Amino acid sequence: MESTVNLKSGEFLVKDVDANSIFIPEEFNEEQRMIAQTCRDFLEAEVYPNLEKTEKGDRVLMKSILKKAGELGMLGVAIPEQYNGFGQNFTTQMLVAETTGAGYSFSVAYMCHCGIGTMPIMYYGNENQREKYVSRLATGELIGAYCLTEPGAGSDANSGKTNAKLSEDGKHYILNGQKMWITNGGFSDTQVVFAKIDTDRILSAFIVESSWPGVVIGPDEHKMGIKGSSTTQIYYNDVKVPVENMIGARGEGFRIALSILHMGRMKLGANVIGAAKQTISDTVKYSNERKQFNSLISTFGSIKHKLAQMVIKAFAHESAIYRVSQDVDILLDKYKTEGCDYGKAAIDAISHYAVEDAILKVYGSEMLDYVVDEGVQVHGGMGYSAEMNVDKGYRDSRINRIFEGTNEINRLLVVESATKRALKGEYDLFGPAEALYNNLDAINDSAKAGENYFEQKLRYIKNYKKAVMLAIYSANKALGKKFMNEQEVVNNLSNMIMDLYIAESLALRIQKLEGLKGVNSVNRDILDVFIYDAASNIRKNAKDAIYSSIEGEEAEKLNKAMKTLTHVAGVNVKDARRRIADKLIADNVYKF
Ligand SMILES: Cc1cc2nc3c(=O)[nH]c(=O)nc-3n(C[C@H](O)[C@H](O)[C@H](O)COP(=O)(O)OP(=O)(O)OC[C@H]3O[C@@H](n4cnc5c(N)ncnc54)[C@H](O)[C@@H]3O)c2cc1C
Repeated sequence: MESTVNLKSGEFLVKDVDANSIFIPEEFNEEQRMIAQTCRDFLEAEVYPNLEKTEKGDRVLMKSILKKAGELGMLGVAIPEQYNGFGQNFTTQMLVAETTGAGYSFSVAYMCHCGIGTMPIMYYGNENQREKYVSRLATGELIGAYCLTEPGAGSDANSGKTNAKLSEDGKHYILNGQKMWITNGGFSDTQVVFAKIDTDRILSAFIVESSWPGVVIGPDEHKMGIKGSSTTQIYYNDVKVPVENMIGARGEGFRIALSILHMGRMKLGANVIGAAKQTISDTVKYSNERKQFNSLISTFGSIKHKLAQMVIKAFAHESAIYRVSQDVDILLDKYKTEGCDYGKAAIDAISHYAVEDAILKVYGSEMLDYVVDEGVQVHGGMGYSAEMNVDKGYRDSRINRIFEGTNEINRLLVVESATKRALKGEYDLFGPAEALYNNLDAINDSAKAGENYFEQKLRYIKNYKKAVMLAIYSANKALGKKFMNEQEVVNNLSNMIMDLYIAESLALRIQKLEGLKGVNSVNRDILDVFIYDAASNIRKNAKDAIYSSIEGEEAEKLNKAMKTLTHVAGVNVKDARRRIADKLIADNVYKF
């Protein structure tokens, strides 16, 4: 993979990139397409025919499906060959995450096993631990789980009470405590458990085998959705964990937990695209069959609006996913070239993109919630029937806003990570922001006569960047040390950053695609509507942030500047959405 520019995390706020430097999903090579097809075939052959049984709680069956995935190599996509893996780059891993995302509960069990259940050992484990565990997790001989959450420690994950004490002979840690909401809990063979040694303030991480004496697995939780996945409490009663099963160093567990969550967020961001495309395909098929008032419902403007919006949001989100995937791959390769071990290179590269992974998690999970909600609506009463996949999709989607760090926590992280990096000097955000702030009267929309299609779109995006910089700067100036505590304002800023990043990724994708394949008018419709909507969203959030933190003439001047920076030409969004919907209706499947 080649790129002229590899932006640092959050640097997109202040720097532009050339469309040709980003990776777009239309560039997947033959091998990547075949890997995705293998995953799709697996869902068709093993997952969909068993949905009813797994949804009713057949955990033996779910475990056997995971093991079959292991036989096919699907559990080792992110694992180097020396540990029985398949050693694919990060972009391919994200494509697999996307494809398996259409697998309902299977995708949760699968992502948990391949990601949070395995990768802490792969990334932070020593050679013996990798040989002993990773090489068997890669094939499905073992199934993994990740045990961080406790009854009193959810979002505040480092506040857990599970405790480890060194035995008198120094050979074991004696583990006591309780974990909850553990995915794959009911059938996992290995668990990555986070606990505090003695009176440590910071967690350490351990590999625990589920069959060891003192490990007690609770019954499955009754959940709103992802009913085919196992979620349990796990109790540790004087469990003897060999000292050689500590991952990394004492006190390194919290860092491991957080880094792994960075990876989980990226993969979740990819996973939701698969689910969204599946729902959109199911929904358009239904709308092409269902008649009311002697017409197919797909002919009604209200339905076309919904179908188009589902496509626009999924397509836009997908653009950001593969843009970041390549950024991670480039950084990972750089770290490897500098002599880093693969595991360290991979997790450091992933964790570096903290601003983007939080964006992908929040935007992606909310995109999917939108898609499944409208999917149910287009199905009318049938959407409310448990017979329909769209009902399952609706219930399954909801968890994505809660796990891998809630969306509230991740919204805060978007702003916190971006501003911290700027303050550390990784890029200059506050300098140009201050210059804008000091010259509010000079702000104009920079329109140039005769600009072409992409010059205009990219100018809008530059203006959105200015709006975001100005909003961050002015809120910081007004709120001072209270800044991160004024969460409503931080949420406004976070929403602005997300809209900007997704809009820019979409514009660059479509520009690159036109360079490769020529003009596609429906793609332009998608971009037109998205950029137009992003302007209103950014404007509204900017306005809320300004009037919530600043008063008087200064607020009015800022608001006027924001209005200028979010000014975009009018778009006939009705016709644009109709054309997008008409393509979907003609294809009768998501094919964008
Ligand atoms: C089906 C399922 C599977 C799961 N799988 C796993 C797993 O495999 N392993 C594992 O370790 N955990 C797992 N979890 C746990 C999950 O990660 C936690 O539920 C999540 O981190 C939230 O923690 P909590 O439930 O304690 O909510 P809380 O932290 O109590 O949050 C409650 C509400 O308060 C908000 N909130 C909390 N703190 C703040 C703050 N500082 N600012 C603003 N708002 C805040 C939250 O966003 C949320 O809206 C799973 C959960 C579920 C439901």
